[in-house]
Parts: sequence; structure tokens; C-alpha cells
Amino acid sequence: MANKEHTDPVRMEKIVSLCKRRGFIFQAGELYGGLNGCWDYGPLGAELKRNLKDYWWRKTVQERDDVLGMDGAILTHQEVLKASGHVGGFSDPMVDCKACKGRFRADNLENLECGQKPSCKPGEHKNCELTEPRAFDLMLSTKLGALATDDDPKALAYLRPETAQSIFVQYKNILDSNRIKLPFGIAQVGKSFRNEINPRNYTFRSREFEQMEIEYFCRPEDGLRLTDEWLEARLKFYEEIGVPREKLHILDVPDGERAFYSKKTYDIEYEFPFGIQELEGVAYRTDYDLSVHQKGSGRPLEYFDEETKERFIPHVVEPSAGCDRTVLAMICEAFDEEELTDEKGKKDVRTVMRFMPRMAPIKVGIFPLLKKNEEQVRLCREIQKTLQPWMTVFYDDGGAVGRRYRRQDEVGTPFCITVDFDTIGENGPELQGTVTVRHRDSMEQERLPIDGLLAWLLDRIR
Ligand code: ATP
Repeated sequence: MANKEHTDPVRMEKIVSLCKRRGFIFQAGELYGGLNGCWDYGPLGAELKRNLKDYWWRKTVQERDDVLGMDGAILTHQEVLKASGHVGGFSDPMVDCKACKGRFRADNLENLECGQKPSCKPGEHKNCELTEPRAFDLMLSTKLGALATDDDPKALAYLRPETAQSIFVQYKNILDSNRIKLPFGIAQVGKSFRNEINPRNYTFRSREFEQMEIEYFCRPEDGLRLTDEWLEARLKFYEEIGVPREKLHILDVPDGERAFYSKKTYDIEYEFPFGIQELEGVAYRTDYDLSVHQKGSGRPLEYFDEETKERFIPHVVEPSAGCDRTVLAMICEAFDEEELTDEKGKKDVRTVMRFMPRMAPIKVGIFPLLKKNEEQVRLCREIQKTLQPWMTVFYDDGGAVGRRYRRQDEVGTPFCITVDFDTIGENGPELQGTVTVRHRDSMEQERLPIDGLLAWLLDRIR
């Protein structure tokens, strides 16, 4: 729940405006007035999001022996979601404000901010006449088949509300087709859809969003210990992508507030400029999910332990992270306005996105000092070609070099390379074949040989 003490709406406005101005995030369908709760990622946002997903996959699947990946369908069989309890059960209790006609989650009344009528000022909804809470279905559905009619119940399918269910439903196939033993996990990154009643806080609560989920199957006696281990692993991950530990809050969800089947749930929350809000849930879900699917499908989902000769339904620990929320946290964390004073005492503000180099959308900018110098341009293009298979490179020859640095600072490019007269040997042989590398955070510059650039950069962006 948002904690008002930590809000900074002015900072948030600046972040939203930078994201639009520099092409990180746009409202979906903006040309036609916008589609509420849906967002498009522009060129830089797409790179940032991809870097996050790739790094999550690398840390979760590629660098572990005990986790396998999958990529399930978005369209979901209605029986899957009946068995899981989503059909009929996946809803939020909502209240309507009779004065402004706004609709709000009943569990979040203190933070209402409709403000459309004088009687509905932010935080003052408790004085409004609100209707009794009513349940609103959060699932988006569709009809499969070109000839399906609205009243054909068999044609009904859902857009998945979480990636987890396809993992549970494919658990047996994955177990049988891979030589793997408990404990092991199945990981997935992909789109999920929820018909959120009140999409808000920029991309934080959207109707279409991406999740990064792990279902980690284990023996019952290991569930609680593994939940704590996954919490630690996930906190380390956030540190590695530039979301520091001190900005994260761990909520040990108390008895009575967890899902009824969960024996332990941690919410990992981040101090967004609009309040402390959930990034990820790490939940020990016992054997609930596989049990309901065994019952729903009538097919055995038990695990046979060769060593103990036991047959049982595995328990599961689920670290479930939101990709869009994590991108937003990285953006909020990276945004900085630094006051600079030049030699003449003139003050200036530098906007800089301090992304971790491994997450930065563009890894390196490359500039000829003089656009008209053919040799400088040729060398820049050559260096660009060498680096491009490994990282995103941005070539820029427009305006003064200082300006070009600032443009890259604003999108978080950690390094900029300048090819100058020394590089091409016009000032003597000493510095020939070397370039200036300028660091985004310190603004310091150093001279490096062109030959060593690729290795030097790879070391810093992995
Ligand atoms: P909330 O209470 O904020 O609605 P939740 O507890 O329902 O979230 P989960 O069902 O646990 O969320 O989903 C796991 C993760 O998926 C969340 O921690 C969040 O990062 C992400 N997520 C869930 N709903 C949304 C949404 N509407 N928009 C963006 N991300 C979401």
C-alpha cells in the first residue's frame, strides 16, 4: 500500500516527461486518445526492458543447473483457470464514489485520488458516499474460432492473468522430458493481462504487463527454507541491476493476509516516487497448485522419489516479479539532476540516468570530434562495426562534443568514445590509434587504444 511519506510527485513528473521526450515509454494508442492501462516501449525502453529480461534469464536459467525455461501460450484453456480458482475467484472488491463516479479498490481507500469534484480531494474520500464493495472480475476473455458466437461456451478462452499456470500445467511434461530431480524450477517471462479497474501510477498498474516467474518445486520439508533462500537470491538480483538494498522493503505478509494456501509470503517493495509499492512476491504456495490441477484434470501429477520410494505432490516456492514494474524502478532509481558549476562559476543542471552499465539501453556513444574530417568519421564507423555485434552503439556527429555527451547522459549511456586529431596521428605518433573514453558518472576521461576497446567495454557491461 502506498506510503505517503515517501512520495515525490514533482520527481515523478520529470521522469514521465523524460521517458516520453527521449523515447522510453509512450501511451498505447496515443494518437487516438490513448488506451487506458496499456503502454508502448519506444526504442530506448525496449532496449532497457530486453536487458532486464535477458539478465533475469541468464541469472535464473542459464547460470543455474536446477532451473529450466519455458515459453507458454498466452491464450489459456478455461478449465486451467477454473481449476486454479481464477474463474469466479480472481476479482477485487471495488467501491464506487457516488459524487465523482470513480471506482476504487476497497482495500486502498486511504490513497484514493480522484479529485474530480470538490468533495473528492485526494485522501478525503473517506468523507464521500461510497457504495458497498462489489467484486469485479479481473480476467480478460476472448472467443476462439472465426465462427464462434458470443453464446458458445466452448469457444471461451482467457488471456492469462499470470504466467504461472502454464508452468503448473506443463510441469509433468517438463519433468518427463528432462532428466531432472527435485528440487528444480521452471522459469518463464511473458505477458499477462488483468482488467485492472483503476490502472495508475504510470506503468506500475497496467492491464497488459510482463511477468518474470519461477515455480520452484521441492519436497514439503524444504519449502520454508527455500522461500528464504529465494528471497535472498532475488534481493541480490535487484542490487545487480541497480536497485539498491536500502530502497527495498521486505514485507513478511502476516497470517490472515496471505492467500489461504500460502505458508509464507514476502513482498519485495520499492520506494517509488509515488510511494512504497510491490515489485515482486516470493510465496511458498505448498502443494496447492499441482493438487488443484491433478483434481481438475483427473491426471496424476505426483512425483516419484527414486531414493525414498515415496510418491507425493511437490510443494512450490514462487518468486514472481513484474517486468514493467522493475523497469520503472530502474528508471526511477537512475534519474538524477546534478548541479554543476563551470570554471567561470556558472551553474548548470545535468540530467543523467545512472543506469547500471549492464542495464543501460545504449552501452556506448561514438563521436568524431569533427564531423567534416573524413578520416575521423571512417574510424568511428569502423569501431562501431566492431562493437555492434556485442552491444548497442550510438553514432552521433551533431553539434559540439559537450552537447553530445549531455544527450547520452540523459539516456544513461555509460561510456562515450571520441575519435579526435590525436587518434588519426595529426599531432604526432604518440597517441595515434587511441581514443578518448568519457565516463558518464564521473565525467572523467581517459585515453585507451582502439584495439583494447571491445574487451575493456565487455568487462564493464556484462
Ligand atoms: P498488486 O497487489 O499490486 O495488484 P499482486 O499481488 O496482485 O499485485 P501478483 O499476482 O503477486 O501481484 O503478481 C506478481 C507480480 O506481477 C507483482 O509483484 C507485480 O510486479 C506484477 N504485476 C501484477 N499485476 C500487475 C499490473 N497490473 N501491472 C503491472 N505489473 C503487475
